[in-house]
Amino acid sequence: MTSSVICLYFPGYPKEGSWLEEGKEEGKVQRYFCPRCCSSFSKKANMLTHFRYECGKEPRFQCPYCGKRDRKSSNTYRHIRTCHKGSRIQAYRLY
Ligand SMILES: [Zn+2]
Ligand SMILES: [Zn+2]
Repeated sequence: MTSSVICLYFPGYPKEGSWLEEGKEEGKVQRYFCPRCCSSFSKKANMLTHFRYECGKEPRFQCPYCGKRDRKSSNTYRHIRTCHKGSRIQAYRLY
């Protein structure tokens, strides 16, 4: 698989030389990057699911209190828990 997209931003990617010791490369955790948005995943299947069903899609869920939209209901629930403390945890489904 080749990709012409170059990811410049690796969330959680270790800085070169910061913790890797010589000869320990094999033990390095493999990350899979979405070729479209560069989100990183520990499992290839998760990356493919994201790429097929989530990446680039319109957000489906909306916070009923401030209108913030997200692609995942769990993110909206978490948003309500942190930003609208004491409010009912619910999300509008847009479609
Ligand atoms: Zn993506
Ligand atoms: Zn909100």
